[in-house]
Amino acid sequence: MNKAILRGATRTNERLKQFPKRHLLLASSVAIGVMGMMALLPSSDVEAKRSEIPMTIDGVEPSADTRPLTLGNPFLSNKEDSKAQEEAKALAKTAYDPEKQLGQWHNVTIKSGDNVAALFSKQSLSPTVVYQVANTPKYGDLLARIRPGQSLEFRINDQGILTQLRYVQSKLDSIFFTKGDEGYQAELVSLSPEVRPTYASGTIESSLFSASQKAGLSDNLTMELAGIFGWDIDFVLDIRSGDSFNLIYEEKYLDGDKLGDGNILVASFTNQGTTYTAIRYTDSNGDSGYYTPDGNSMRKAFLRTPVDFTRISSRFNPNRLHPVFKTKRPHRGVDYAAPTNTPIKAAGDGRVKFSGRQNGYGNVVYLEHPNNIVTIYAHANKLAGLRKGQKVRQGQTVAYVGQTGWATGPHLHYEFRVNGVHRNPMTVKLPDAAPIDSKEMASFKKVSERMVARLEKQTETLVATQ
Ligand SMILES: [Zn+2]
Repeated sequence: MNKAILRGATRTNERLKQFPKRHLLLASSVAIGVMGMMALLPSSDVEAKRSEIPMTIDGVEPSADTRPLTLGNPFLSNKEDSKAQEEAKALAKTAYDPEKQLGQWHNVTIKSGDNVAALFSKQSLSPTVVYQVANTPKYGDLLARIRPGQSLEFRINDQGILTQLRYVQSKLDSIFFTKGDEGYQAELVSLSPEVRPTYASGTIESSLFSASQKAGLSDNLTMELAGIFGWDIDFVLDIRSGDSFNLIYEEKYLDGDKLGDGNILVASFTNQGTTYTAIRYTDSNGDSGYYTPDGNSMRKAFLRTPVDFTRISSRFNPNRLHPVFKTKRPHRGVDYAAPTNTPIKAAGDGRVKFSGRQNGYGNVVYLEHPNNIVTIYAHANKLAGLRKGQKVRQGQTVAYVGQTGWATGPHLHYEFRVNGVHRNPMTVKLPDAAPIDSKEMASFKKVSERMVARLEKQTETLVATQ
C-alpha cells in the first residue's frame, strides 16, 4: 500500500562498485591509450580528442598483441597539419577492430538436457576446444555444472577460433574465459547489487498476506516478517482486523532492475493494540538476529509447537478421561495430530536425556534444557537416532510422528516439565533466547536507536502526506 525508497546517505554501494572488474580494467587501458595518443598529438587538440576515443570496446580488454595503440608512423602527426591529424584519428579508430580480431558474440541460453560438448559442437567447435576450456585453471570445471536458464556466450573469429567465452551463471556472476598462448585463462566477474533500504507499511483487513501484498511485499518477505514476530504473535489465531505493520527492508538492484529482496532491517507489528518492534543486528562474530529495542532476543528459548500439526487432538487437561482406558486420567501434555513421519523438532537447545522405547509412550525422546526444563516427545514412528547426552539445537529433528505405545492415531504427545512439574505447553511462559551480549550493547544501542528513528520518521512522513 505504502512503499517508498529511502535514497541518499544509506546506500551501501556506490555506483562505481557496480561495474564489473572488466570494465574497470578496460577503463584504465583506454586511459593509457589516450595518454599514449596524446603524446603523439598537438597539445591544443588534446581535449577534443579525448571524447573521440571509443570508450567501449564491448566490455573487453584487448589482449597484448592486439592493442589499438599503434598509430603506424609516429612521425606523421608531428606536422601540425589538420589533415594528418584526421588520418591519425581515422587510423586509431580502424587499427583495432574487435569484431575482426575476436569475432562476434553468439549467446546461447542453456536448456534442460544441454551439455557443454554438444553446445560447443553446435558452434562448430571441436572436442579439443571443449577439453582446453574445461581444463582452464580454477574455473574450467564449473562448465560441468551448467544449469538451464544460465547462458554461454561464445566469441568466435573468422578463423573459427573461440577467442572468448562468457559463462553467465546468474545476473551477478559470470566466468570470463579468454584464449591465451596456451589454452585459456578465466576469471570470475562478480557484480555487487545496489542495496536500497525500502519502507513499507500496511493494515490488516482480512489476512496478513493480502495486507502485505497490497504493501508491495513478496511472499518470502511476508514469511520473514511473520517469522520475526511469530514468537510473540500466533499469526493463525491472534491476528485481528486493524492490526498493522511497518518495516524497512533491503531491495537489491542491478542496473535499475530489481533482483530481489535482502533482509528486513527494522520492523514493528501492532497486534490487538500491542506494538512489537524488532531490529536486525549483526554482532562482531558475524551472527545476525532480531532484537527488541532493549536488546532482548525476539526469539524464545523454546518453540511453542515442536511439530507442524494438522489439529490439536487433545489439550493439556489434569481431569481428562483417558481415550483408551476410559478412566479419569490427567492429560499432562498436548497432542498434535499430524501425518505419520512428520518431523518432530527439538523445542529448544539442550541434551538428549533418553531416546528409545517406553511402555505407553512408545518411541519417545526426552530432552534436558537449561533451568531444569525437560521436554518429552512421545508415540514417534521412528527416532532420529540420537544418543544419550548428545547436544541438540532448537529446530533439529529428534523423531518422526507415529502412533507407537498407547495411541489411537498418529500424533505427537508433547510435554513440558519445569522442575519436574508438568506445565501446559500451549500457555507456559517461555524464556527468551539469549539477549545482546553486554560487550555488544553499546554498538547495538546505536544501531537500534538509528533504525527505530528512521522507521518512525518514515511513518510520520507517510501519515502527514495522507
Ligand atoms: Zn497425549
